[in-house]
Amino acid sequence: MTRVTHWLPRPDFMAILADAISSPDHAANVRLLTSAAVTAVRRAGGGVEVDVALSSGAAATLRPKLLIGADGAASAVREALQAWAADGAAPGAAGGSFAQKQVECPSAGLRFKVLPLPPNLELRDGTRVPNRAFALLQGRKATALGGAAAVRLGLLPFKDDRPGRTGNLITTPDHPIWDVADGERMYQVLEEALPQADWRALVPPAAMARFAASKGGAFPRPTYSDGAAAAAGGAAVVLLGDALHCFPPDLGQGVNSALLDVLALDDAITAATPASSSASSSASPSAPGAPPAGAVGAGTGPGGVDLAALAAEFQRRQLPEARALCELLPLGFPYQYSASLRRQLWTAVFLLQTAGNKVAPWLVPPPTFIMIQDNSLNYAAILAKVRQAQLVGRALLALLAAVLLPKLARLALRLSAGAA
Ligand SMILES: Cc1cc2nc3c(=O)[nH]c(=O)nc-3n(C[C@H](O)[C@H](O)[C@H](O)COP(=O)(O)OP(=O)(O)OC[C@H]3O[C@@H](n4cnc5c(N)ncnc54)[C@H](O)[C@@H]3O)c2cc1C
Repeated sequence: MTRVTHWLPRPDFMAILADAISSPDHAANVRLLTSAAVTAVRRAGGGVEVDVALSSGAAATLRPKLLIGADGAASAVREALQAWAADGAAPGAAGGSFAQKQVECPSAGLRFKVLPLPPNLELRDGTRVPNRAFALLQGRKATALGGAAAVRLGLLPFKDDRPGRTGNLITTPDHPIWDVADGERMYQVLEEALPQADWRALVPPAAMARFAASKGGAFPRPTYSDGAAAAAGGAAVVLLGDALHCFPPDLGQGVNSALLDVLALDDAITAATPASSSASSSASPSAPGAPPAGAVGAGTGPGGVDLAALAAEFQRRQLPEARALCELLPLGFPYQYSASLRRQLWTAVFLLQTAGNKVAPWLVPPPTFIMIQDNSLNYAAILAKVRQAQLVGRALLALLAAVLLPKLARLALRLSAGAA
């Protein structure tokens, strides 16, 4: 069965999370502070303190038992952990240097910006591009851009006819389209470079002016933190999502991998909680020496969760995953953003590997792009299979060379003898 993939816009995802925490099950336990900024994270009083600037202008200091650093690629929580580790104030059992480790990747550094489009837009030839379909408008070289490489506009599929569909422009940082900062000029450039659509009819002048003026963003290098969690005295600190690992969006794993971190944290909390507390209605006595259910002592959190064990378990599971995911990125689909020769080569290898997998699935695994959608495999298992595919590919090439080279040599000898 073919799985249909749709993109969930960020505001919709945020609304799902907001609904969940305001549900009767959680509302009593959750205090949501919006538009608040963390201004400092420090070790203090045998635990961790977090200074927060509240939206009211007031300041507050929080002393969490479990601090979750889900604060993105420039995580202040990760930086605090790195500083503590560098000071030799070893942040506990799980530890690590919390330095950022980078992996080279061809798509890193590409720049992107987003053009707002009407839903189900119509092209000049009358073709309608439904919201539900992925679409790629392939451009052509334009004199207005000095004959530079053709640009493309990628339209991700949404499951409904919402307004606000977007076109993603992704290209190299030195492409001349980044110098087009004026709306009228951008209309002229797009009319020549992407003539499929009537841009003046589709995009109002104010929106085109904003698009032209926007500097957009750049894809980060695959980067992971050398450390996923720490126990700092009476508190545990964990890193999730982009704070732990960030990378270009080639494999669509950004939010998915962050959600896997959340599931792993849930498992780590369960594993570090005494059995009598985690069993919902169990009245069985605690293990000898274990904190009683609900106890919050030094080194333990609500329900008696052992914070050092929680940090160690989370790091044991998620640090190898963060590293494997970053190492998968350059092996995945980094050439998808242009119609280059490398993309064609990648497509040829993809097709060969798919065919090889059909014929000998025990020897040739499916391509990375397919395996990444298989939720029975974790990232480390996928990376191991990709390495296996590389070995098989190299062995086949060596075999081919061993068979063909002597024949080529004989042919060359015969030709040179004939010529003489
Ligand atoms: C061009 C592009 C396309 C992408 N496409 C996809 C895709 O198709 N699918 C996908 O799954 N992923 C995609 N990603 C990746 C995805 O956006 C990230 O992986 C995801 O947003 C990570 O979520 P996060 O919560 O860890 O971090 P973020 O989304 O960065 O959230 C961190 C939050 O912390 C807040 N914060 C930071 N510092 C502080 C502070 N000091 N005080 C208070 N708050 C703070 C920030 O304001 C932010 O709200 C894409 C990324 C890029 C760049």
